[in-house]
Amino acid sequence: MALEKYKQKRDFTKSPEPAGDKPRKSPAGRKPRFFCVQKHLASHLHYDLRLEHNGVLLSWAVPKGPAIDPTIKRLAMHVEDHPVDYGEFEGVIPSGYGAGIVMLWDRGTWTPDVDDVDAALAKGDLKMTLDGYKLKGSWVLVRTRGWGSREGKADDGRSWLLIKHKDDWAGPIDIAEFAPLSVKSGGDFAEILSAEDPDIWRSNRPAEGGETGKMFDSIIKRALAMKAGQAPAPAKAKGERLKAKGQTKTAKSRKPGAGSRKPRAGSGKPED
Ligand code: MN
Repeated sequence: MALEKYKQKRDFTKSPEPAGDKPRKSPAGRKPRFFCVQKHLASHLHYDLRLEHNGVLLSWAVPKGPAIDPTIKRLAMHVEDHPVDYGEFEGVIPSGYGAGIVMLWDRGTWTPDVDDVDAALAKGDLKMTLDGYKLKGSWVLVRTRGWGSREGKADDGRSWLLIKHKDDWAGPIDIAEFAPLSVKSGGDFAEILSAEDPDIWRSNRPAEGGETGKMFDSIIKRALAMKAGQAPAPAKAKGERLKAKGQTKTAKSRKPGAGSRKPRAGSGKPED
């Protein structure tokens, strides 16, 4: 079953994530169907690209997030299918697999450029059109080979690249920085955390100490630090805002090599 791995990894008595018990029929052929990108602050920040197909969400974890600059190829690790209703999920996973904060960073529809999506996946070349709030136009997911073997490991075939094609929706903007907030709540990670249903915190808050507790502490700190790193706001503005120029420079000088065009294989297991 397509969702077996998804279910194996989670305890739904402790996780607010959807269990995926509602079967769903997806459109076939070149018809628009649901897609989303969830920004996931877990042990590592990453972006989960999810494309509806055959009643599930095909999923790729993109460590650096999608880039709308066609010269930038972003590593995308193919991970297990998710239930379609997961695609609207935003909130806090207090413990267990993927513990952290999930933000619905973009959503909309995707349309395959081919009739046979399964054949495209098998071939390792899926061309598509996205119609989200932030991501639009023509894109491709291409499977890569060889990165794993460079580190002396067998290539497990899970490494793909997410690439924007040149069109009116492409540009030299860092979309993840330019539009960092939720399309569902308008919030950042800290706001999603503080808006969380208090019941979840009472029942499932990780015990102080322990690995999960420590990890969650650091996630909360990171959420607050990311908030502090956002554009100086005299008054709270609604929606997305462009970073002040000075801030962008600071961020760049702190991270030499950020925005490098060469994708690198992630270290360790990709999270999803
Ligand atoms: Mn994830």
